Amino acid sequence: MRAMVLSAPGRPLALEERPDPHPAPGEIRVRVEACGVCRTDLHIVDGELPNVVRPVVPGHEIVGIVDEVGQNVTSHRVGQRVGIPWLGHTCGNCPYCAAHQENLCDRPVFTGHSRDGGFATHAVADAAYAFPLDGFDDPVAAAPLLCAGLIGWRSLKMAGKASRVGLYGFGAAAHIIAQVCRWQGRQVYAFTQKGDTAAQAHALSLGACWAGDSSQSPPQSLDAAILFAPVGALVPAALRAVCKGGRVVCGGIHMSDIPQFPYNLLWGERQVVSVANLTRQDALEFLEIAPRAAVHTTTHVYPLVRANDALADLRAGRFQGAAVLVPG
Ligand SMILES: [Zn+2]
Ligand SMILES: [Zn+2]
Repeated sequence: MRAMVLSAPGRPLALEERPDPHPAPGEIRVRVEACGVCRTDLHIVDGELPNVVRPVVPGHEIVGIVDEVGQNVTSHRVGQRVGIPWLGHTCGNCPYCAAHQENLCDRPVFTGHSRDGGFATHAVADAAYAFPLDGFDDPVAAAPLLCAGLIGWRSLKMAGKASRVGLYGFGAAAHIIAQVCRWQGRQVYAFTQKGDTAAQAHALSLGACWAGDSSQSPPQSLDAAILFAPVGALVPAALRAVCKGGRVVCGGIHMSDIPQFPYNLLWGERQVVSVANLTRQDALEFLEIAPRAAVHTTTHVYPLVRANDALADLRAGRFQGAAVLVPG
């Protein structure tokens, strides 16, 4: 197999040839067809997340074809297309797992973080955390659904019944969730970096009723705001934009410090919450909803060996939608 490997924070990924891995009992191996590039991969490369194993193969939006199944696996068959997300394994017996909150597991394993991920020609995964993608015939289009879509979906669920939803940071997650919001009959207000007219135009093309700079006030107060940009200063900005009882959902795994803000921004039973990881139930729900909502992902394809270029372009905001790596 070939893989793009991170050996130390801040270093570029390096192409390595390795012996083909084989699945342990309960695991499957996939031939990777496509793997999305997520902002979390930037945080991993930059050394901003704890407990990363190194060297590690990043990548947690994997679409692939099962080509070997380990012992005791009856849920998957060779030749089947599956999706492998960020949540790679949970312990099953900590208090959170016992309470159906496996996203908060005390001993989780994350794909492309605490086990090797999909910036590679092959990947091994726990079969219980690999989802059938039988109805998805375009692996590149499906890849961003595995994190941008799933975490976005969990964030939207946390936003509750909000009919006017603000999306701060209009990248991979927001461009998917905007489409789900529209399908559900919600109004979308898109907030981008100052003067990013390309992202604002992208948001409007996907049905947003308003798009502007994140420093601007929306034309109407919002019921909820979801922050996908890793910028703590957006928390008070979003609190200003939501109405009484409104909720600000922080959808990212890492964020710069939240600046001090006056209590009256939180007053009126406004709430600030974070979203951590996903559950398998989130994945099953969203992979059923995405085709019904006719979610269409905007993708930028890079060959696997250009993973560093994909990461650099994501960091610089050089494309709309999501970057996707393809081996071969
Ligand atoms: Zn657990
Ligand atoms: Zn991700």
